[in-house]
Amino acid sequence: MNRQKFVVDAMLGNIARKLRFFGYDAKYFPNIDDKEIILLAKQEGRVILTRDRALSSKATKEKIQSTVLESLIEVEQIIHIAKYYSIKKFSIDFDKIRCSLCNEKIASIKREDILKKIPIGVKSEEEFWICKKCDKIYWKGTHIEKLVQYTKMLNEKIH
Ligand SMILES: [Zn+2]
Repeated sequence: MNRQKFVVDAMLGNIARKLRFFGYDAKYFPNIDDKEIILLAKQEGRVILTRDRALSSKATKEKIQSTVLESLIEVEQIIHIAKYYSIKKFSIDFDKIRCSLCNEKIASIKREDILKKIPIGVKSEEEFWICKKCDKIYWKGTHIEKLVQYTKMLNEKIH
């Protein structure tokens, strides 16, 4: 089964970034109006994540599935999404991660090809990935370790 694709409402950028790390296709635009969100969901087979009840009912009228995230707490919002869309667990898998900036898939890249673009402190890393669209470079640093811990905590709460 294909993974659920999302379009995330303007107020929920942090949720879009987390979903991308978990390998979900989650489109997000800081400035997008209700009509555009609904159209995008319709054209690309996405479900809408929002905090806006009015948008959600407009979407329902257009037969588009949406989820209203009532909580203001990120962890609770993500758990809500997991339960609603029957996601049993989240994982951080570098073959699936999408760029946190632009939602594009990232691809493995040779260390020597990007050596000039990475900070001194991470030059000892062995594995790197690059976003095919915006060239953002990823590696398994402290940021990812924190995300792995966060993911474990989330998964414990989902069960
Ligand atoms: Zn990117």
